[in-house]
Amino acid sequence: MHTRRTVMALGAAGLASSCATARGFGGGLMRDLRMAPGTRPVRLPPVLVSEERIIRIDVGLRPYRASGFRVERQALGDKVLVHNYGHGGGGITLSWGTAKMAVDLGYDSSKPDVAVLGCGAVGMATARLLQERGAKVRVYAKDLPPNTTSNIAGAQWWPSSTFDEQSATPDIRQRQFEAARFAFRRYQSLVGDAYGVSWETNYSLSNNPNSTYPAAPDDPMHALIVNLRRLAPDEHNFPSPFVHQFDTMMIETPLYLRRMELDVRQAGGEIHVREFADISQLQALPEQTIFNCTGLGAGRLFGDTEIEPVRGQRAILLPQPEIDYNVISRGYMFGRRDGIVLGGTFEHGNWSLEPDPQTTANILARHRAIFDPMRA
Ligand SMILES: Cc1cc2nc3c(=O)[nH]c(=O)nc-3n(C[C@H](O)[C@H](O)[C@H](O)COP(=O)(O)OP(=O)(O)OC[C@H]3O[C@@H](n4cnc5c(N)ncnc54)[C@H](O)[C@@H]3O)c2cc1C
Repeated sequence: MHTRRTVMALGAAGLASSCATARGFGGGLMRDLRMAPGTRPVRLPPVLVSEERIIRIDVGLRPYRASGFRVERQALGDKVLVHNYGHGGGGITLSWGTAKMAVDLGYDSSKPDVAVLGCGAVGMATARLLQERGAKVRVYAKDLPPNTTSNIAGAQWWPSSTFDEQSATPDIRQRQFEAARFAFRRYQSLVGDAYGVSWETNYSLSNNPNSTYPAAPDDPMHALIVNLRRLAPDEHNFPSPFVHQFDTMMIETPLYLRRMELDVRQAGGEIHVREFADISQLQALPEQTIFNCTGLGAGRLFGDTEIEPVRGQRAILLPQPEIDYNVISRGYMFGRRDGIVLGGTFEHGNWSLEPDPQTTANILARHRAIFDPMRA
């Protein structure tokens, strides 16, 4: 299993190839991952949860659409407009995949001058794929990193809360899977310190012996779960009756977005700070093709009444270098190098960016209940 501690020793190429081979993506048959060989008993170091260790509180608004992300081409006068927004709690994960869908839909190499609206993870991935096809890209955005929602993300490589589970169609599940599969490969090529992408083990704690988190066997996303394994009670020290583990990539978004911005500029792209109030201002742009990656901002700009904020608040604790794993329970703990991220709140329709002290207290209490017994 590759954690971020072993990333440097193995190198990105080694990781990417070992994962691609084991999973058989790109043609081979997939193994039954439930048969993955056992690992040694896990005695994990606990997170030190206390108010004194908080270094900041983050609040972000997930750009959520109940019907899922919108990737669609439309005419805007004599211009082509391609939407790529509404990724909910999975925009970092899916960014490269929906970017590919958008570029396939809208890029015409005979008109290489293109505009990308938005400088979050989705705008940056779209800009890079366009540049790889020879486009001359100009990015326009109201806010640049570190002031985007993308900077706030956890960011575990797994889409969560990206559409309404009850009303989801097979079509959006399949489209999400296709976007995820492309992104899964692309992120593997970025593993390492340069982009802040690493592999980490997730432990899912549950009272339910049949928990299928992060994806049920009949969900297409199930095919992208790596190293899934149920742990016997003597194989872990969590105060939870049922624990299973799986591995995902983690993206340290502050570092990742800084690097993506640099990549866009080094490939000849321009980034302009500019806010658009309405569509007429887009029509006045010199570019004939416009990719809309404005996230939650697309609601007001394009009159999309379906998109809504899903507010998430997180408490970031002092880094603990020994914590290189994640815990998913009633909330999550992501063991990142730049801090321990405690979060997992989802408030539909709440636009407030103000931290709520009671929410912070609840997040700490939930995680104390997990980690304090592990200190004994
Ligand atoms: C607490 C929290 C935790 C999350 N955890 C995860 C996770 O673990 N994994 C994961 O995959 N995802 C996660 N997400 C979701 C992820 O952050 C979003 O889906 C993603 O950031 C959306 O990216 P984006 O580029 O579409 O939007 P943004 O990052 O919001 O970027 C939008 C860009 O458009 C610009 N813009 C908007 N309106 C205008 C306008 N009118 N004119 C000009 N520019 C405009 C903005 O300034 C910005 O540059 C999380 C989100 C939150 C809030």
